[in-house]
Amino acid sequence: MAEFDLLIKGGRIVDGSGLPGYIGDVGVRDGRVAEMGVLSGSATRTIDAGGLVVAPGFIDHHTHLDAQVLWDPYATSAPEHGVTSVITGNCGLALAPVGPGGEDSLVKSFVRVETIPRKALEEGVPWGWRSFGEYLNALEGKLGVNVGAQAGHIAIRHRVMGEEAVERTATEDEIGQMCQLLRQAMEGGAMGFSTNRNPRHLREDGKPVASRLAGDDELYALCDVLANMNAGVIQTILGLSCMEHLPWYDALARRTGRPITWQSLQHRWADPDLWRQQLDGIEPTFKAGYQIYGLTNTTPLIRRFSLKNAQAFDEFPTWKNLTFLPEQVRKQAYVDPETRAKMKADIADPRPTNFHRRWDLVNVIKTRDERYLGKSVAEVAAIRDQEPVDALIDLSVEEDLETTFQSANTGGDPEAMGHILRSPYVLMGQSDAGAHVQFDANFGYSTTLLGLWVRERGAMSLEEAIFKLSFQVASVYDIRDRGLLRPGYAADVTIFDPATVKPCEPEWAEDYPARTRRMVQRSEGLHYTIVNGHVLYDDGKLSEQLPGQVLRGSAYSPVSS
Ligand SMILES: [Zn+2]
Repeated sequence: MAEFDLLIKGGRIVDGSGLPGYIGDVGVRDGRVAEMGVLSGSATRTIDAGGLVVAPGFIDHHTHLDAQVLWDPYATSAPEHGVTSVITGNCGLALAPVGPGGEDSLVKSFVRVETIPRKALEEGVPWGWRSFGEYLNALEGKLGVNVGAQAGHIAIRHRVMGEEAVERTATEDEIGQMCQLLRQAMEGGAMGFSTNRNPRHLREDGKPVASRLAGDDELYALCDVLANMNAGVIQTILGLSCMEHLPWYDALARRTGRPITWQSLQHRWADPDLWRQQLDGIEPTFKAGYQIYGLTNTTPLIRRFSLKNAQAFDEFPTWKNLTFLPEQVRKQAYVDPETRAKMKADIADPRPTNFHRRWDLVNVIKTRDERYLGKSVAEVAAIRDQEPVDALIDLSVEEDLETTFQSANTGGDPEAMGHILRSPYVLMGQSDAGAHVQFDANFGYSTTLLGLWVRERGAMSLEEAIFKLSFQVASVYDIRDRGLLRPGYAADVTIFDPATVKPCEPEWAEDYPARTRRMVQRSEGLHYTIVNGHVLYDDGKLSEQLPGQVLRGSAYSPVSS
């Protein structure tokens, strides 16, 4: 019998701790790293990793793959980018707990906030669970990658209040029931609790997502559950980025002693110095001994949109209201002079927004008119001798709202991005994998960090980058046997060529349920992704094995779930 199931020979081991890499071998047995160093034992399979980097598998902690992992055990395209574990249940959205008949309330939020096609959710989610633990149990044995999940405030609120969850604040009694459900979810294996106050986050029917109706009393009571259990991360999204939120994170961290993550710390064209103020602003909290991690992405957050589906403008009331009208009515409204004037007034209103109002940064990527392709809306407006807003709307109406635009609000300034990415107070990720599937695919946040920021721009060392993609996340999320390459740890490994690793441009696939389309993203230079000792991704090919495990939080108690 071979000594090792898998032997990875001669790679540069960058183990996730931040320590300098070294040449060595990794021997894997029974799904775990058995030995490291210079190994000569026999192995069932040997991988020659000469010239390649051998690192712990990456943990993508900000995903909305809650539904996708039910029909796609590999969470594609995550393994193509070295990701071996994904965490779902972000931003308050989750598929459990759910009461009888409550399923559609949850679908309504996913459809709109995360723009996942309704048909895909209706056909692809095999409901049947009630509790959070039962949802996790439904995943057991059916996973390619490892999956952990946070308890989402929206699901918990609906479970207690039904559809009134999107209408009103909760009574004391209802808050008590929510706390009970959260406790059960944590005992069922939740990695933490997520909530959402983003004023732009609406359901399909235009109502606010349920967690937005919660007052601080409800939110504090729920967060106290984690404090009392001494477990779990608190993930928050308050919407518009501004300095005013920082005291709230600080108070929550001091009250609970739990790690808080918040969205997001980015360079924004709409407010180009805010990131520096935010970094300075959270430092005193960390210095005092409390953790309030800002989330950032490595890639410019690119939004592709058409006026058929223009959530990009949900911050502007007239624009937002129009998106809820049937398409024919909407087209008429777009050309109505009075409505147009209101739309312009919305954009001209100087209040702070996430949208940068920079028409030179919004580009046309699909149009029937060759002259406009690739041009910015500002340039199109000049060609048409119109104001930018008129050019955007008129061109769209002329093309049956099929004209597609793309804009990056964040991440555009390399100098600022370097500072942000290097900060110890920033958590890398925010891929939003599994969300906005018809507009983008951000699976490649890790390969972007390794290719663009480490190799091309030298913003940080490889060791630091790997730490941020693995052990930092495992530590904040209290995943105790992953995120490092060490004997005894789970054999989640990624092997890549540091000279070539990079993400490819997102492309269309028709692999969602009900043959709905979505965007996927391949990579280059990423050779192997290994989950619990099984080679899941091998130079462009996914295996058909299911080595993934459900990751359960530290409060997990098998008896009570
Ligand atoms: Zn999210």
